[in-house]
Amino acid sequence: MNTRDTLKVNAAGHLEIGGADCCDLAREFKTPLYVFDEAYIRRMMRLYQDTINEEYEGRGLVLYASKAFSCKAMYLIAKEEGIGVDVVSGGELYTALSVGFPAEKIYLHGNNKLPYERAEALDARIGGIIVDAYTEADALDREAEERGIVQDVLIRVNPGVEAHTHAYVQTATPDSKFGFSVSDGAAMAMTKHVLEKKHLRLRGFHCHIGSQIFEKHSFVLAAEKMCAFIEAVRKETGFEADTLNLGGGFGIWYTDEDAKIPVEGYRGYLSALIGAVKRECNARGLKLPFLLIEPGRSIVGEAGITLYTVGAIKEIPGIRKYLAVDGGMFDNPRYCLYQSKYTAVLANRAAEEPRERVAIAGKCCESGDLIGVDFNLPRAKEGDLIAVLSTGAYNYSMASNYNRNFIPAAVLVKDGKARYIVKPQTYEDLVRNDVVPDDLK
Ligand SMILES: *Cc1c(COP(=O)(O)O)cnc(C)c1O
Repeated sequence: MNTRDTLKVNAAGHLEIGGADCCDLAREFKTPLYVFDEAYIRRMMRLYQDTINEEYEGRGLVLYASKAFSCKAMYLIAKEEGIGVDVVSGGELYTALSVGFPAEKIYLHGNNKLPYERAEALDARIGGIIVDAYTEADALDREAEERGIVQDVLIRVNPGVEAHTHAYVQTATPDSKFGFSVSDGAAMAMTKHVLEKKHLRLRGFHCHIGSQIFEKHSFVLAAEKMCAFIEAVRKETGFEADTLNLGGGFGIWYTDEDAKIPVEGYRGYLSALIGAVKRECNARGLKLPFLLIEPGRSIVGEAGITLYTVGAIKEIPGIRKYLAVDGGMFDNPRYCLYQSKYTAVLANRAAEEPRERVAIAGKCCESGDLIGVDFNLPRAKEGDLIAVLSTGAYNYSMASNYNRNFIPAAVLVKDGKARYIVKPQTYEDLVRNDVVPDDLK
C-alpha cells in the first residue's frame, strides 16, 4: 500500500488521508465520496513552480491542467499558489473566471474550440490560446479584429515523440487529431500561416506527448525536438519564438507496477526538461524561451481517494468474487475506458493483511461496470469501507449521472478537517433540466 505522506493507517487500524480518519469521513459525509488532501495539491504546485524559479531563473509558469479535476476550489488553490491554469472548454474557463482567476494566467486548449468558447476567451483577455487548426486561426484572427485586439497564441506542434508509461517511440507522421507534425512540414506551414495574421501574435509553440509517462528521456527528447523546430522556424521565417510550452504527462502511482515518486522526486522531471531546453538553446544560439508546463494528473491524482461502502457480495465458485460498492463507472469510468489499474484498501480494517483477490463492481446496469478485477483485500463484508487510491485525477472530471446515479460529493481535507468543495447532488438536480412538453402533461 502507498502509505507515504498523504495516507497512513492510524492506531484504530483505519486509513487516514491528510490526517482525517476515513471512517469519520464516511460517517459525516456518506459514501461514495471523493476526498482530496489539500496539502498534497499545494506541495505539488509549489514544487513545480519552485523548480522553475530556482533552476530557470523564474522565466516560466506552471499551468495546472484543470481537466484533471476542475471545480472552483481548485482554481482558488492554484490562484493562491500563484500558478496558472490551462482550460479546454468554456465550462472550465467559466469556472476559473467565476472565482476571479487572473485571466492572463489562463491558456485555452482544444482541437475544436467552439465559436462561443473562442468569444469568451477573447473577451476575457486570457493569456494565450493554443491554436490547433487553420480554420481556428482564421476565425480567431477575424474575431480578434472585430474586438480591436491582438491575441497571443501558441501553435500545437507534434514533435514526433509518442510516449507510453514506461517507453516511448519516435514516430515520423503521427496520426492524431492534435497538433501539426514537424516531420512532414505541417508545423512549419501552419507557423507561416499564423505569422501572417495581423490580430494574432504568435508567441511560440506547444507540445504534449502523452500522459502517465515515467520515462524522463521522452520529455527530454520532445524538448530537444521543439528547440530544433524553433531554430528551423527562425532560419526560414526570421521569427524566434519567445514561449515554449512542453505540456504535462508526468506519471503517478496507481499500483505497484508504477514507480512511487515522492513529491520532491518530481523535481527531477522538470530539471531534466529545463536542462534540455538550456542546452539546446545555447547550442543553437536561441534566447531562452519563457517556459510553460501543464501537469494535471501529477498534481491531483495521488492527492485524491474515493470512499465506497461494500454492499452485495457475490462469489462465483472457481471464477471470481465480486464486491459491489455504492459507486461505479459513473464516478470512475477509467477501468471501463482504459482498463486502468488501481489499488484498494479496506479503510476500516486497513491494518489487516490481504486475504483474497476480488473484483470491485459498481452498481450500474452494465456488466462492464467495474472499478477493477484484481484487488487484494482482507475478507470484506457488507458495510465495510473501501478506499480506492489515486483517484484525484480524471475521476470526478469524467463522472456522469449514468442510470441517474448521483455524482459523488467531494471534500477537501486540511489539517485533518474536511469540508465540501463539491456538494452532494439531489434528485431535484437530476431532473433540473428535464422539460415536460405541454402535450405530454
Ligand atoms: C491532458 C493534458 C495535460 C495534462 O496531462 P497530465 O497527464 O494530466 O499531466 C496537459 N496538456 C494538455 C494539452 C493535455 O491535453
